[in-house]
Amino acid sequence: MSIASILIATILVGAALLAIGMLALVVRFHLGRWRAERHWAEARVEPLADLGTTTRLEVLPLSDWHVGDGDFDGEAGVAYLVRTDSATVLFDLGLNERQADPSPLLRNMQTLGVTQDELDAVVISHMHPDHVGGMPWSRRRTFSLTGGRQPSLGTTAAYVPEPMTYPGLQPRTVEGPVRIAEGLASIGAISAQLFFFGWTREQALAVHVEGKGIVLIVGCGHQTVSKVVARARTLFDAPIHGIIGGLHYPVTDGRFRALGIPVQRFVGTGKPPWRPVTVGEVEQDIDLLRSCEPKVVALSPHDSCDASIAQFRDAFPTAYRDVRVGESILI
Ligand SMILES: [Zn+2]
Ligand SMILES: [Zn+2]
Repeated sequence: MSIASILIATILVGAALLAIGMLALVVRFHLGRWRAERHWAEARVEPLADLGTTTRLEVLPLSDWHVGDGDFDGEAGVAYLVRTDSATVLFDLGLNERQADPSPLLRNMQTLGVTQDELDAVVISHMHPDHVGGMPWSRRRTFSLTGGRQPSLGTTAAYVPEPMTYPGLQPRTVEGPVRIAEGLASIGAISAQLFFFGWTREQALAVHVEGKGIVLIVGCGHQTVSKVVARARTLFDAPIHGIIGGLHYPVTDGRFRALGIPVQRFVGTGKPPWRPVTVGEVEQDIDLLRSCEPKVVALSPHDSCDASIAQFRDAFPTAYRDVRVGESILI
């Protein structure tokens, strides 16, 4: 056998294995989407009648792509401090791509004078690296504020969308909607199938602000805006006052690059990689949100490109707020 024929045979075998792998991903994707839709259709959700209200809501971004004035680290991850009349909740733990200690999140917390002692609860939206403090933690189905260690979280409660562990804590796996504090709830874990990331369960927060309505706080938005809004309408007899967080619109670009590829455009969209999110799809979601007449709209730049943020700003000229580390959104 000549070297040329060995080379050709190797290329053909490689191409065949690649095709088989891609076919397996396509089959898994379609089966998963069917399963996610069945979960959604079969979910029996009752209104959360005893949620209560808060007079005050502050959402302070501790980790995200854009930063406000001050000595802050930006990254393609999410961590928001949610303060109400009666509770302080840390929603997600950022990306910490280099697994630094202190992490960008911990450094930003220190700059802002936020300590883990004041946390009543940690809520993980979903188990992706940009929300649990990095890839090593997500692989081990856990989370951390920083790299290489898991600081004590004392008696903090933890609400997670899939079974996860944390030293010294017993995280509660959220299935359906659950009240976390007076006026603050998880809307429950909603399933989605992503092409590369696979099966994903994601929860969002809902806060009932007295005299105003429900403010939704979303991590990455894999569960889709339409399902988040539909769930909120089922759960609460109050208008949707606002929506804050990640909704995943990397239309013209992505924040996180590997080998020069804007990874977010192709993974995590709930669509095959050859059909990235379009401007028209962002417009459809904007139309849906418009029908809710929200008074506050704030899109996380960790997974949405600048063009999508501009599209939102144009659509909601008075309601739109920037999400920047260190700048509180007050409701
Ligand atoms: Zn995600
Ligand atoms: Zn994300």
